[in-house]
Amino acid sequence: MNYQELLVDASKQLKSYKFNSAKLDAELILSKTLGLSRETILLNLNEKINEKVLKNFNYYLKLRKQNKPIAHILGFKDFWKYKFKVDKNVLIPRPETELIIEQALKILPKSSNKNILDIGTGSGCIIISIIKERENCKATAIDKSLKALKVAKLNAEMHQVNKKINFLNIDVDKYFSNKYDLIVSNPPYIKNSELISLDKDVKLNEPKLALLGGFSGLEIFFKVINKSKKLLKRNGKLILEIGYKQAKELKKYLKINGF
Ligand code: GLN
Repeated sequence: MNYQELLVDASKQLKSYKFNSAKLDAELILSKTLGLSRETILLNLNEKINEKVLKNFNYYLKLRKQNKPIAHILGFKDFWKYKFKVDKNVLIPRPETELIIEQALKILPKSSNKNILDIGTGSGCIIISIIKERENCKATAIDKSLKALKVAKLNAEMHQVNKKINFLNIDVDKYFSNKYDLIVSNPPYIKNSELISLDKDVKLNEPKLALLGGFSGLEIFFKVINKSKKLLKRNGKLILEIGYKQAKELKKYLKINGF
């Protein structure tokens, strides 16, 4: 059997399990199995595979069929310009969260030396990406999950910004500090009652702590906004990721709180 035949067969299997990225998933699983890039595999589709590769490939394929996210099988996820280590203790970075980076970079000129806070840093993907782009800035990243913070620290070391980011294991409620120029946050914002309707990949594998925003889905935003009011300098900025139906209510809450 060659790469091509293996990939065709595996994508057929994944399709029958209703995975909509079946072909890409199969390619990434083979890439993980062989320790080769996806591009290299696609350029060598006639290459033969041996028994050992087949066995390992089938092991990962089985995990995928059991809804293990590709990011967990690979152990990393691409976000912005970088690879981030992920595991079951952190939210897998989502492409839409890159919008936070874009907005932050609009606010921060190239040579800016601002002080930034990331609330609920998870894998650290947001703050690490910002600091990589604005090397004179410094930052604090907090998370109430110690296990998440460990992942964030590893990512900061991997991307050589660990000296510029202070990681703290603390809940936003309990955090007091000097003032910040910019606060960024992608807090959990799914309504508790909506957990059941999420993709199996998500609900079986990603931390509830990173997903659920309480009864209304807005509870953590309220905490973050209240705290940001106190932690921001005059004219400081707050950038939040919110759910697609949450803008109206949050705008109102932000206005009441002087934003
Ligand atoms: N800040 C991290 C991210 O955007 C984690 C967010 C979260 O756990 N809700 O991916």
